[in-house]
Amino acid sequence: MTKVVKFGGSSLADAAQFNKACEIVRADRARRFVVDSAPGKRAGDDEKVTDLLYRCHAEASEGADFRKTLQKVKARFTDIAEGLQVTSVDLDSEFAEIEKQLQNGICADYAASRGEYLNGKLLAAHLGFEFVDAAEIIRFLPDGSFDADTTNVLAAMRLENTEHAVIPGFYGLIATRDEDADATDEPARIRTFSRGGSDITGSIIARAVHADVYENWTDVSGFMVADPRVVENPARIETITYLELRELAYMGASVLHEDAIFPVRKEGIPINIRNTNAPEDEGTWIVESTAKKSRFTVTGIAGKKDFCCINIEKDMMNSEVGFIRRVLQAFEDQNISVEHVPSGIDTMTVFVHQDEFIEKEQQVVSEIHRLAKPDLLEIESDLALIAVVGRGMKSMRGTAGRIFSALAHASVNVRMIDQGSSELNIIIGVEGRDFERAIRAIYDIFVTTVL
Ligand code: ASP
Repeated sequence: MTKVVKFGGSSLADAAQFNKACEIVRADRARRFVVDSAPGKRAGDDEKVTDLLYRCHAEASEGADFRKTLQKVKARFTDIAEGLQVTSVDLDSEFAEIEKQLQNGICADYAASRGEYLNGKLLAAHLGFEFVDAAEIIRFLPDGSFDADTTNVLAAMRLENTEHAVIPGFYGLIATRDEDADATDEPARIRTFSRGGSDITGSIIARAVHADVYENWTDVSGFMVADPRVVENPARIETITYLELRELAYMGASVLHEDAIFPVRKEGIPINIRNTNAPEDEGTWIVESTAKKSRFTVTGIAGKKDFCCINIEKDMMNSEVGFIRRVLQAFEDQNISVEHVPSGIDTMTVFVHQDEFIEKEQQVVSEIHRLAKPDLLEIESDLALIAVVGRGMKSMRGTAGRIFSALAHASVNVRMIDQGSSELNIIIGVEGRDFERAIRAIYDIFVTTVL
């Protein structure tokens, strides 16, 4: 059995958290490959090392003195090394090198990647594992996009005969045509994923070593049915499918980086979200497919605020070939992405993100008039969308009915309904001010009443 374990920034924020993580790794011999994040916040008002490193880079590129900020970063690592009594990592020379690179105008990605790199070195030394630099095995194409196939081959080959290793998350190297090219330009070729990208590295390693499970250790015991900032003490999701997770993540539920499911999904490897501060909790299992019924009819509820909708009316719209395309063209021309397009016989509505739309609204409106000649056009703002997601919904009669009667009881006016063709989700549009009340009402009807 092989497990890949990834620890997030809060799980490796200081020596005490490091010790918890190391205990977790040592508790199970199958935990052979460890992927680390940079040290995160130790308390609410603390700073993440990655943020400090980006700041160092910004200061350096403005010609300002970045050494004070870099000193803060060094202090974080020195504290960890001292707390763990790790002496084999030469932090002085590591930081001298980072300082030199920053002075020479190195890219932001290199600066940001040093958090994971150094944390990985300390973790490997403390665990007695081999350190395998992500720059050796994770490849990006010259245009900056991730090269999944080359990476998979390189990582599989490199780790094939490795019993235990620590691999830093978040970054890799942009390929050159000649793999044996001069390594001195390597720092300039370092490339990171987007923020939170160590989750992706964990998933890549899990795929490359054909892991049985990818454990993602963080500071919560998995996904909750609803956002704890909206619903007090929500129930935990025990098992969720990749597809359900995509729907919820898109609607704002965030525990795992959105792109982290793709590599493991290719191999059918389950992801287990676990809590470093409560290792006995089962966490949440993310799987391809499951026969397990979820405890409640809905798996999760998530939502986002700050949408606008553009209502368009035109007599005989339904028989005018190409009408919808012409309306959507106006949005595309302004590079505005469209979220939902519910339509009636002579009406259609386009939902867009308010912040993307507002600056260009008049251009869009005039273009809709020019292209589609509607009878009426009206804009509404401050709307929210709520996604009710669940693989169990399609086989359950009355789910939509229960949602809408719960909303009616809570005096929430439903402005839009959109059921995906997969019947995996129902999207509901409400006024922004009703957002929290609506989520609580849906949660109560499906979860509280069952508990
Ligand atoms: N340290 C990086 C960040 O803060 C990547 C990660 O933690 O996954 O975004």
